[in-house]
Amino acid sequence: MPALASVRRSALDALALLVPVACAGCGDPDRSVCPACVAALRPAPRLAHRDAVSAWAALDYAGAAAAVIGAYKDGARTDAAAPLAEALAASIAAALAALPSGSVEVCTVPSTRAAMRRRGYAPVDALLARCGIRPSRVLRPARARDDQAGLGADARRLNAQGALVARADLRGRRFLLVDDILTTGATLAEAARAVTAAGGSVASAAVLAQTPLRHPGRLVASRDALRDIASESGYGGRTGVVDPPFRSG
Ligand SMILES: [Zn+2]
Repeated sequence: MPALASVRRSALDALALLVPVACAGCGDPDRSVCPACVAALRPAPRLAHRDAVSAWAALDYAGAAAAVIGAYKDGARTDAAAPLAEALAASIAAALAALPSGSVEVCTVPSTRAAMRRRGYAPVDALLARCGIRPSRVLRPARARDDQAGLGADARRLNAQGALVARADLRGRRFLLVDDILTTGATLAEAARAVTAAGGSVASAAVLAQTPLRHPGRLVASRDALRDIASESGYGGRTGVVDPPFRSG
């Protein structure tokens, strides 16, 4: 038995030469994400609001969760994907549970060419792939735009306006928008605008994490709230039915 354990350990140590050897969250010596940081990534989905946008969020973008998400998105730490995929799946499940039965397509926000060049992968699509979900690639960037990171709320809103366009006529198709971080809501609002401009409707939205709320009193988590917000925000209300399995297109 000790021999077997030792062989396993050697194999893992050899692997550690090829993959990161520090936790993506706290930097402690570990082969991927340490147990404490995995615990910080335990999903607790709730409905979050930003202006006209509402989305189910699994995590707060703070502490270890923010560190792991940042390392995964911009530090090439794709080894940290497993707990993030689990959290995103929980957020999506919560969004779907709040909707009537039926079918919905998952729609992600396309990466800019610059972000794709820098990262070499699309972070949200890669997490969805781990969840067995293939998003419908119905949106594309309408023009070159700067990445949203590092911009203030007004700059983000301006930057996002008209940034996306649908690849096709979306009449009769309903979507669940999925993104990684809900900050001002500008990105999801733009995705919803592009979908509805092409005749589609947005049933709900789900994100991995939300930045800390400045108005915690506005946090609501009920189907009624989602319906109200959906109708107020031009998300198309709830005129149809939505449920897994996902359709890909
Ligand atoms: Zn850690």
